[in-house]
Amino acid sequence: MKYAASRLDPVKPSASAWVSQAAKAAIAAGEDVIDLGLGEPDFDTPPHIIEAAHRAALNGETRYPPTNGTVVLRQAVVDKLARENALTYGLDEVIVSNGAKQVLFNAMMATLEPQDEVLLCAPYFGQYKDIVLILGGTPVELICPATDGFILKPDALRAAITPKTRWIMLNLPSNPAGAVYSDDDLRALGQVLDDHPDVLILSDEIYEHILFDGRSFLSFAAANAQLKDRTLTVNGVSKAYAMTGWRIGYGAGTAPLIAAMTKVQSQICSGACAIAQAAAAAALNGPQDEVRRFNAAFEARRNLVVDHVARIDGLTLDPPQGAFYALIGCAALIGATTPDGTTLANDADVTAYFLKAAGIAAVPGSAYGLEPFFRISTAASEAVLSTAMTRLASAVAALQ
Ligand code: PLP
Repeated sequence: MKYAASRLDPVKPSASAWVSQAAKAAIAAGEDVIDLGLGEPDFDTPPHIIEAAHRAALNGETRYPPTNGTVVLRQAVVDKLARENALTYGLDEVIVSNGAKQVLFNAMMATLEPQDEVLLCAPYFGQYKDIVLILGGTPVELICPATDGFILKPDALRAAITPKTRWIMLNLPSNPAGAVYSDDDLRALGQVLDDHPDVLILSDEIYEHILFDGRSFLSFAAANAQLKDRTLTVNGVSKAYAMTGWRIGYGAGTAPLIAAMTKVQSQICSGACAIAQAAAAAALNGPQDEVRRFNAAFEARRNLVVDHVARIDGLTLDPPQGAFYALIGCAALIGATTPDGTTLANDADVTAYFLKAAGIAAVPGSAYGLEPFFRISTAASEAVLSTAMTRLASAVAALQ
C-alpha cells in the first residue's frame, strides 16, 4: 500500500534536518559527533521575551488568535518595518504564521498555478524548491557562482524570465552562502523586473540582522519602491532573537495577496500560537542589544572559520558577508581517496566522509543546488568551531 500522494514523489526531506537527525542519532549512540548541520542560533531566547510569554499565558491569552495574527503583533511588525526598513504597511498588509517557512508555503499555495515557474538563485534555501514541487510548480534554478559572489546578476534574471514566471525568490543575506546584495545590485534586479509586470518578488529577509563588516541592510521593497505591491517581504524572529522553537514568522505585501495567504492559513491552522505571538511582539518592540550581541558573536565565529579554512589545502571559502553559515568549496577533494579506499565522487561523499572520519555533520552543496560545496552552520561556540575545523583539517590531510 502506498500512503504518500504522488505530489510528494519529487520532494526530498530537508537535507539539513536529515543531517542533523543522523548526527543526533550518532551522538545518542555514544559517537563523538559535532552537529554543524542545522541553522539554529545556540543562544537562549532573551529573558524579557520569555517573561512576555509568561505574562500572556497568565493573562488568559490562551484562546484561538485571529488567523492572520494578533493586532498587537501585526502592529509590532508594521512598526518594525517602518522603523528599520523604511517600509509603510497597514495592518491588513501583514500576516503572522508558524515561522517564515509557513509564510513561504502560504504564499506559494495561494498563488501558484500548475507549471508556473519560480526562479531560484542557486545556492538557495532548499525549502524554496520543495514547496514549489509539492504545489506542482516548476522550480527554475539560476546558478549564481562563487565568482559572482553567489548573487544573481541582472542579465541572468532577464534571460530566465518567461511568460510562465510567477515568482523570483531572493534571500537577503543568503542561506547557505552568506551572500549580500549591494543597494545597486538590488536596484539593478528591480529594473529588470520593471519590464515584467506579472512577476512577483519574494524577498526573504530572515537573516537581515546577521550582517558583517559594518554593512547596513536594505530591504528589496525599499530599494525598489515601484515594486512594493509586487513584493512579499518575509521575515521572522527565529534567527535574530534566538527564537527558532517559538515558530513565529511574518510576511508583508499587498492586501489582496495577504488575504489569499490568510485564506490558506485558515485551512491549515487557526493562526500561530497566541503566547508565542506575545513573545514575538516583545522581541520586536523591546530592546535590541541582544540582537547586536548575537551579531558580534556570529561575526567572530565567521572570522574564525574563514581563518581555519584558509589554512586547509583543498578547501576554499570567500568570507560570508552575513547569515551564520559557511559554504565551503571542496572541488579539490572530488576524486580523492579516503584512508579506507573509497573515492569521493561528489560533495555528498565528502560530507559522508567528514561524518565518518571527523565526526562532523555538514550538509552537501547539492542540497542547495550548487556543487561541489558543503555547508556548515557557524551558529556554534568558538570552542566547538575550533575543534570542528581542526578535525576537518585532519580529515582532509588524510585524503590521497
Ligand atoms: N528562510 C531561510 C532562508 C531560512 O534559512 C530559514 C530557516 O532555516 C527560514 C526561512 C525559516 O525560518 P523559520 O524558523 O521562521 O520558519
